[in-house]
Amino acid sequence: MSQTAAISNQTRRWQEMDAAHHLHPFTTHKELAGKGARVITRAEGVYLYDSEGKRLIDGMAGLWCVQVGYGREELAEAGYKALKELSYYNNFFQTTNPYVAELSQKLADVCPKGIDRFFFANSGSEGNDSAVKIIRYFWNLQGKPNKKIFIARKKAYHGVTMVAASLSGLTHMHPQADLPLPGFVHVECPDWFAEGGERTPEEHGLITARSLEEKILELGAENVAAFVAEPIQGAGGLIIPPANYWPEIQRICRKYDVLLHVDEVICGFGRTGQWFGSDTFGIEPDMINMAKGLSSGYQPIAAVGLGKRVGDTVFNSDDEWSHGFTYSGHPVAAAVALANLEIIQKEKLVEKAGGTTGAHFQKKLAELADHPLVGQTRGVGLLGAIELVKNKKTREKYPDLGTVGAQCRNHCFAEGLIMRAIGDTMVLSPPLTITESEMDELFALARRCIDLTARDLGLV
Ligand SMILES: *Cc1c(COP(=O)(O)O)cnc(C)c1O
Repeated sequence: MSQTAAISNQTRRWQEMDAAHHLHPFTTHKELAGKGARVITRAEGVYLYDSEGKRLIDGMAGLWCVQVGYGREELAEAGYKALKELSYYNNFFQTTNPYVAELSQKLADVCPKGIDRFFFANSGSEGNDSAVKIIRYFWNLQGKPNKKIFIARKKAYHGVTMVAASLSGLTHMHPQADLPLPGFVHVECPDWFAEGGERTPEEHGLITARSLEEKILELGAENVAAFVAEPIQGAGGLIIPPANYWPEIQRICRKYDVLLHVDEVICGFGRTGQWFGSDTFGIEPDMINMAKGLSSGYQPIAAVGLGKRVGDTVFNSDDEWSHGFTYSGHPVAAAVALANLEIIQKEKLVEKAGGTTGAHFQKKLAELADHPLVGQTRGVGLLGAIELVKNKKTREKYPDLGTVGAQCRNHCFAEGLIMRAIGDTMVLSPPLTITESEMDELFALARRCIDLTARDLGLV
């Protein structure tokens, strides 16, 4: 038997076990069972390898999270050392561990001004869920128990638990679980490319920001707890607000005493060229949520950061705070996150994302704008989006939104590139460690796959 055949049999066995017993996130299982899942077995730097030995350049850093690239010895070592030293202990009942104490200090050093107390969870969804509980508790302590409604945005992604999915504004996430829960409402988002029509991006930014003010006035400011938003909406299609959007949001939140909870799960840890999206857009959040890049995905860990107002109120309460996970501040996850942040600092990955690496990425991205199928490219730092359109001038998309994007994504997989399709918006978010020659390879493949998609459509 040839070696390829042996590998294929192994792959087939994994696919069969998987199809029989594994419920996948965001997957149509009926469709997957017919095809068999792609089995990823190994990763190094910016490359993934599947069980058939095929190499893929990962233009998405996993799920927007592998800031320092795959297979880092330092992180394996940090995890191994912590596993041997203190494999587990909890932080309940007035106990802590060295790793979580040092990680908290490190986060206080790098987080946006004023954010200096941290609660640890295991995922971004749990972070947002916890943030909602903290904010409810805050308003109760403030003697304003009516301030309970959370306003988020259409096309927002804040995770999948009952509360995080209720905050999310991707409406396809709601009906299966009868969401959103009561008390979660959504306002417009600054998606100029899809919805801006004849307006300029700035006009659209201002009008969509003011939809928050209208909603607050409609609900009564005395009933609104917080506005929750990503600096740049990620899973909603890489929606980058114009410069006037965030200052207007900040003004509205202040005016009506609505807390601003910024979901930094994608934008945090250098992705936008500064430590946090809040830094890039000049946002002064009351609270932030972090996950993904916090550990570069090497361990499941998330953190909710509290600013002074909320932090002082919660820390000075006489009550026991009735919240926390068995694994909140897990020593191994904290050790790995700490080592990850040390790599980000030592290798100046934030400075590079905001400097040479980011500049090269944005230059290569912008070069795709001349393609006949591309209606716009946009990006910040190491985030990039490519809009596939029917009409470059009017921004009209192909009918049956998502079909062309899926076609392009399938070409990418076949050609050895991971580029995500959100509708017909192709999205890139590579590891911050990506080199110029790797970026050149990535964008050459991206162009080739957009060409192949154009050929499918009969354009060339
Ligand atoms: C991924 C993501 C989440 C959810 O994180 P999980 O770890 O998948 O629960 C929350 N918010 C944003 C902005 C995200 O991108």
